[in-house]
Amino acid sequence: MDRYCVFGNPIAHSKSPDIHAAFAAQTGQQLAYDKRLAPLDGFPAAVQAFVAEGGKGANVTVPFKLEAHKLANALTIRAQAAGAVNTLLFDEHGITGDNTDGAGLVADIVHNAGVAIAGRRVLLLGAGGAARGAVLPLLEHRPAALVIANRTVATAQALVAQFAALGGMGVLSAGGFGDVTGSFDIVINATSASLQADLPPIPASVFHPGTLALDMMYGKEPTVFLQFAKASGAVPRDGLGMLVEQAAEAFLGWRGVRPDTAAVLASMRQTL
Ligand code: NDP
Repeated sequence: MDRYCVFGNPIAHSKSPDIHAAFAAQTGQQLAYDKRLAPLDGFPAAVQAFVAEGGKGANVTVPFKLEAHKLANALTIRAQAAGAVNTLLFDEHGITGDNTDGAGLVADIVHNAGVAIAGRRVLLLGAGGAARGAVLPLLEHRPAALVIANRTVATAQALVAQFAALGGMGVLSAGGFGDVTGSFDIVINATSASLQADLPPIPASVFHPGTLALDMMYGKEPTVFLQFAKASGAVPRDGLGMLVEQAAEAFLGWRGVRPDTAAVLASMRQTL
């Protein structure tokens, strides 16, 4: 039976084994998927051990996405653009690194939330790994504007410089939270502020009635960002759909079939 796993530290909380087990059952694929705690100073060795055991692929989560990027001897275009890897494929060519986080985000917005990105104004809060992975997939959907706002302004500016050639004139811009003006059709919180029950200091005027407000974090209770967005007239959405969609993209890369995510997302929602 083909074997896959997810590497992280910590890893006990990971929902990936449940998601991939559901995908395998739904598509009739024979595979095993477990979670592995990699030592903080031993990620490459943990991957090599899994490859030696016959592992076919792996997901990678905090804090190893940058190390996985370095470890891979081939990278997909979206992994190169993201500068981070969340999916590894092991075959006769070695280790290929992919990044499915951004594609998962976009699939959740367009297919699950039913919100078009093309021609819309999008505000991306944060410029860390998750935000970096989101920029190329968002730009591929041709938004009218993509504004990146971050606590450390220079990091947001560096992101815009990296993607300037792809963004087109005037589409991409960067600044601090206080620089954001106007309202947006889609506001994505890709900061980790929600982990500390913190809120990026953006004005309520970034939301208009019906704005999609997506927090990449997920949990039983809405985050402070989602509470603020809802109180400001936006439609709140957490990161669980993105999680399931990034897993579906990884599954597609490994198995050549994209599972139907709707039922899996609904059942994962029950387990929160
Ligand atoms: P990183 O550590 O790479 O980046 C963190 C970002 O958050 C930086 O832009 C940082 O700004 C900003 N930040 C941190 N604390 C605050 C704060 N108190 N106020 C404002 N901004 C802050 O994290 P990731 O990009 O890997 O992850 C971001 C979030 O996305 C996490 O909550 C993570 O769980 C979630 N995520 C969800 C996924 C899903 O599938 N649903 C997938 C991947 C991530 P600065 O540059 O100034 O430090």
